[in-house]
Amino acid sequence: MASPYSGRLSWSRLLTVNRDHGIFYLLNEQSREEMGPIMRDRSPQEQVLSTRESALSAHDRRRYAGQNHTRVRKHNHHAVLRALLSHGPTSRSHLVKLTGLRPATVSSLISELIHQGIVREIGAAVNTGIGRPSIELDFAPHGVYAVGVNMGLEWITIGLVSPRGTVHYKHEFPRPSDVAPAETVALAIAAIEDLLIRASIPQDRIIGIGIGLPGIVDPRDGRAIAVVDLDWHDVAIAGPFQSAFDLPVLVGNNAQAMGLAESWFGADRDVGDLVLLYVGSVVGAGAVIDGRLLRGSGWGAGQIGHSPIIPGIQTRCSCGNVGCLETVISDQAIVRDALAHRVHLASYDADRNLPTQVYLDELIEVGLAGNPTAIAVLARAGEHIGAAAAYLINLFNPPQIVLAGRLMRARHLVFDPMQRAATSSSLPLLAQSTQFMPSALGVDARIIGPASLVLVDCFYTAEHLLYR
Ligand SMILES: [Zn+2]
Repeated sequence: MASPYSGRLSWSRLLTVNRDHGIFYLLNEQSREEMGPIMRDRSPQEQVLSTRESALSAHDRRRYAGQNHTRVRKHNHHAVLRALLSHGPTSRSHLVKLTGLRPATVSSLISELIHQGIVREIGAAVNTGIGRPSIELDFAPHGVYAVGVNMGLEWITIGLVSPRGTVHYKHEFPRPSDVAPAETVALAIAAIEDLLIRASIPQDRIIGIGIGLPGIVDPRDGRAIAVVDLDWHDVAIAGPFQSAFDLPVLVGNNAQAMGLAESWFGADRDVGDLVLLYVGSVVGAGAVIDGRLLRGSGWGAGQIGHSPIIPGIQTRCSCGNVGCLETVISDQAIVRDALAHRVHLASYDADRNLPTQVYLDELIEVGLAGNPTAIAVLARAGEHIGAAAAYLINLFNPPQIVLAGRLMRARHLVFDPMQRAATSSSLPLLAQSTQFMPSALGVDARIIGPASLVLVDCFYTAEHLLYR
């Protein structure tokens, strides 16, 4: 298959592996050219190793200079895109002020980004009274996309996400429960191909594919190590997608990925630290510290759904333990609680295997309409979520805990009991400094999350440089 980067995305032609993070990375082709003939024949791995050589020959000094230039240019590239994400639409001159770069450097980088179809000039020139009139710049609305794939318990959701973190096209379909993991992966691949055709998006406008799974995933080789809720163990995820599309593929835990997305594309982009608590078919947390994802030494940071936080629970969990949080506050558990307390759900039929979200949506509607039993069920869920949040407060003392999941449609009924429980079960001093927020990304967080693994790495994170 021809390289997907052989078109206008020539800057990202070389795909390689970041040694430290184990993630596939796009290397700026133009920057590579700037390194000169000394570097051109070396593999990226050899170049990384070469930075650790200590010989001070003229030959090596030239090599260092080339790498620094590459680092600087890539760093500047990220800085301009970050400024545009946070402050755009804006002008070249404002970008100069925001980044502290020279006007010529910003102009050169912007020209490159316009040529690549990532940024565009918008509107008429604005006369500020000083110098030449400036033209506003913003991300091109249909420039490039990352594909986000969420492999959920009941649904597989895919979407095309812009560099600004906006979902432009999406598709959702039920995950067949009676097929092997490899077949499920094949279905997701076919669904992406279908979505690209229906959206009339050529593949050369896709920068990569991010895949979120509700379990423990090794991002180095893109394998699902253990997704207990799906009963998937040691399943190749990234490989089949790479074979099908010849694109970078990043795989991660879905709650972790949603946390990353919230910190970059959520309501408050200036907050470097946050913890996202996802309550859905599974329950998990994603901690972002200083803008970077906490993955954990075994890639499983945030598996709070498998902690026995609520006392007295004897339900056996899919992980094999008893009393896990997930058996109390997952969407299925909340619907079970509603049915046990005789909340009338017109859509419920024990003989029909409808998706849980149908029942949860109805429970939320009934509660918002004022049904006292439904309100009590949702308030109880809020209290249990608050107990989990209290642990997160004491562990991380984060400025924000962001709540994500379908249940947040009932946030007017869930938030108060949740906050009371969180405050009463954590150190008061710490609870006072934590703000609770619903996810600004709504239900699309499950698509934007996996896509953000690609977007953040490709566009915004200078510290994930290959040459360091
Ligand atoms: Zn469990």
